[in-house]
Amino acid sequence: MMTCRLTGLVTLLLLLAAGPVLAAERSVTIGFGIVAGAAPVDCATPAAALGRPAVAAGLRDGRFYVHDLALIDAAGKAWPVMLDETLWQHDGVALIDAEDATGACREGTPETNTRVTGRVDDGAGAGPWRLAFTLGVPQRLNHTATDLAPPPLDLAAMGWGWQAGRKYVKLELVPEGGVARPDGGRAGTWFLHLGATGCTGNPVTGEIVSCDRPNRPGVVTAPFDPARARVVLDLAVLFAATDLARDQGGAVGCMSAPDDADCAAVFERLGLAGGVATAFRVVEK
Ligand code: CA
Repeated sequence: MMTCRLTGLVTLLLLLAAGPVLAAERSVTIGFGIVAGAAPVDCATPAAALGRPAVAAGLRDGRFYVHDLALIDAAGKAWPVMLDETLWQHDGVALIDAEDATGACREGTPETNTRVTGRVDDGAGAGPWRLAFTLGVPQRLNHTATDLAPPPLDLAAMGWGWQAGRKYVKLELVPEGGVARPDGGRAGTWFLHLGATGCTGNPVTGEIVSCDRPNRPGVVTAPFDPARARVVLDLAVLFAATDLARDQGGAVGCMSAPDDADCAAVFERLGLAGGVATAFRVVEK
């Protein structure tokens, strides 16, 4: 009898120590990356020829935010991935960072991050799953000062002067021979800075910011097993209809201005033109 009581007491204490009773969860790690077709993209080596017409282009910066991750099971049910709190993840947002501050990436950070970690309800089953996620920083966290925000929202390099928002995607490429501008000038870097535009409201004075073009595409991948495959942003697809050696006006490349002709092709491939985000795909690890 005493043994039973003690066992019961120990069980109760263990339950109390574990906190509220939760459904069983498991850890999940989802790999991300940036590639150019079959080739990895990093700061040390020129990327494979990119764009149309193709030009050899090296990486100068390659970072993007993701949030609202979920595993979609075979029945179509979404199982949210609850992200761990780390230096790369905060409040459901993660930063993927493919640059390491070497070579042309010297304005970057030495650390890199190519995975998202979190927990998912055991009900998600054994997979394979589609991964659903949203590119960028959610509205509720976007319009804050980088010097007051916790990591990974504290990077000045990912801040965007526009209404204290963030660059959701910061992808900067250095094409061999440079970038010709419509005015006859030349630039060294082709920029893709994706972020919200058409925003009103001053976050500094506490006003709620709203943006005509949130520019946060939703992505749903092909089915995959996170243990064997990862999700990559494929620059060969993203720039398949872009001439990286020639800017068509506005910012050099695309800084999300609605009237910048260089944005249409990349926005389409990021899923911002009503279609599927073809630039993200699943590859074996
Ligand atoms: Ca442009």
